[in-house]
Amino acid sequence: MSQSPPPSSPKKDIVTRDIAGRLLFLGTGTSMGVPVVGCGCDVCQSTNPKNKRLRCSVIFGLPGGNLLIDTPPDLRTQLLNNGIGIIHAVAFTHSHADHLFGLDDVRLFQFYLGHAVPIYCEPNVDAKIRKVYDYAFSNEVQTHIGSRPALDMREIGTTPFEALGSEIIPIRLQHGPKFEVLGFRVGNVAYCTDTNKIPDESWEKLQGLDVLVLDALRPDPHPTHFSVEEAVEAAQKIGAKQTYFTHISCRLEHERTNHWLPEGMELAYDGLEIPLT
Ligand SMILES: [Zn+2]
Ligand SMILES: [Zn+2]
Ligand SMILES: [Zn+2]
Repeated sequence: MSQSPPPSSPKKDIVTRDIAGRLLFLGTGTSMGVPVVGCGCDVCQSTNPKNKRLRCSVIFGLPGGNLLIDTPPDLRTQLLNNGIGIIHAVAFTHSHADHLFGLDDVRLFQFYLGHAVPIYCEPNVDAKIRKVYDYAFSNEVQTHIGSRPALDMREIGTTPFEALGSEIIPIRLQHGPKFEVLGFRVGNVAYCTDTNKIPDESWEKLQGLDVLVLDALRPDPHPTHFSVEEAVEAAQKIGAKQTYFTHISCRLEHERTNHWLPEGMELAYDGLEIPLT
């Protein structure tokens, strides 16, 4: 071994792609992702990249920074795949594992930002985060600052709030009969995943949309997600200029489903970017 110190590459500036003014789909798959491990169906075996769906997440590229919606288990891969080097804040739709279990990956951004990462969520999501990520809230001596995410928890409900200098409108959604989640509207774009019922109170918040993103799991009904037919019916009632469906299972092949869907509606896919209006 040489007497000189070990080689070390100098630290460089943060590298990130600018997505201000756009909504970026990091993932459009259902909770198992597509391909499903071990599944021999034609969608899971497809070579079309639009049939490869990581777990559901989007980034609103706001003028004030990147607002990540949910932290799926695929988060690190998704950020790398899309050249996104920094997240400035996170908002949660709900606390299911496919939307939450990548939260530890925001640990990096507390250093890039120089402060704890703002986390906007409802009280039940806050409680789940404190339980699952108990080490993030612990002062035990064996943890050090870099080993746990620094989370700046900010409670939200259905009242509009400001994040990164933009107005965010939360939209109440039913995810099965007993579970309430949030969708989010920014300007004329609304993101509504993990739902199979839009309660009366929320229809008004969905008026005048340029783009609606809506849950559409599979062809047949499901207890907690819209089927594609139910999603089309809801989307027609909402009447956005363009609708994209997300949280898609391997029962829906990208091209065949798009061919079947009415005009102005299509399946989203990982990496899709649309303008925020
Ligand atoms: Zn989900
Ligand atoms: Zn499959
Ligand atoms: Zn869910």
